[in-house]
Amino acid sequence: MSLSPLLCGLKENASLGILGGGQLARMWAHAAQAMGFRTVVLDPDPQAPAASICHDFIQGAYDDPLALDQLIARSDVVSTEFENVPASSLSYLARHRPVFPDANAVSIAQDRLKEKTFFAQACKSMGIGPAPYVYIEKESDITAISADYFPAILKTSTLGYDGKGQIKIEHPSQLLAAWESLKKGPCVLEKQLDLLKECSVIVARNALGQCVHLPLQTNLHVKGILAKTEVYPESVSEPWAQQAIQAACLIAEQLHYVGVLCVEFFLIQNAQGEPQWVVNEMAPRPHNSGHYSIDACDLSQFELQVRTMAHLPLYAPRLHSAAVMLNVLGDIWPSSPQQGELACPPWHKVCALPGVHLHLYDKKQARIGRKMGHITITAADIEQARQSAKKVQSILGLPLV
Ligand code: ADP
Ligand code: MG
Repeated sequence: MSLSPLLCGLKENASLGILGGGQLARMWAHAAQAMGFRTVVLDPDPQAPAASICHDFIQGAYDDPLALDQLIARSDVVSTEFENVPASSLSYLARHRPVFPDANAVSIAQDRLKEKTFFAQACKSMGIGPAPYVYIEKESDITAISADYFPAILKTSTLGYDGKGQIKIEHPSQLLAAWESLKKGPCVLEKQLDLLKECSVIVARNALGQCVHLPLQTNLHVKGILAKTEVYPESVSEPWAQQAIQAACLIAEQLHYVGVLCVEFFLIQNAQGEPQWVVNEMAPRPHNSGHYSIDACDLSQFELQVRTMAHLPLYAPRLHSAAVMLNVLGDIWPSSPQQGELACPPWHKVCALPGVHLHLYDKKQARIGRKMGHITITAADIEQARQSAKKVQSILGLPLV
């Protein structure tokens, strides 16, 4: 097979562009720079976490034509660190530079209705689909909903993340007021399922169709925000883990996806008492549940993103240590430190524990619920990692989950 020069890998020192300068772009830039690439970041906020470490920073809105033109001029290839970038901006960029993932994949991930419709078709052959749901776009849709969907979760169809734009609904009589409080916008109402586990699978697919994956992650959320991820062999018995991995690869393949993709799953018990995967949502980018891969795998999700962007070969990442990843939110920063008290959490105490890897995102202000950093604890087995994680949680005052 003859490969175009692009598919033989970008030249050394090529410039990789990214829309968004948050923590994902920051960790992506670390990986890109380690491999000798230049990085260009576009973000409206000059204090964004990636701004201080990328080679080249463009301050501008994601739909500002001048900023997009600068990104085109300074990048050889472009990607995005978040799904809510206007699809029209990706299409515009794609007329001038290769953009991975493409606007089509991102536009599906932006909209829960499109996403669920796509999942229902994409994983049908495996008997995997989304949670039972109905679409609500007008008041009369509400009166027509069967009582079988309750208790339920009402979710805005677009722009929701970290549990934002979601309301739990115990009884049909609460639905109208809840929908009104979400400004009567397009929503999906999803049956609330009893979850045995929440898991995610991160895959990376290149332009040649080669698809590799990280090991299955088990996730725990607190107030809608990821609090803890655990990764270890047999966290879910192998045939079930393989099913989720296969479904994630199928989704990437059917999207003709190029880049890193995270697919979130729920494990439930079906009517026959068997475990059953339900596909929840996808993120067209590296994901919070994959941060552990920097410290616990021989190939991280960020290096995978660089490799897919630069058309470098992929190999299956190997988990070399069991891992627990704890998110560090702004909640644990002292609000007004007294004299003699540290203005930041006691990092010196957690860094003294073996296997602890501290990652901070250089955010200038700590706020409740704001992701400020994460800590990955690696160990020879998951029990040891959990023991150290418990110590970290109690030292820092993180939720004891
Ligand atoms: P977000 O975009 O905020 O991540 P999700 O759809 O992933 O939205 O929902 C956030 C969390 O809410 C999930 O990780 C899960 O813990 C819970 N959740 C969402 N949908 C359901 C459901 N249908 N049944 C049970 N729990 C759910
Ligand atoms: Mg989610």
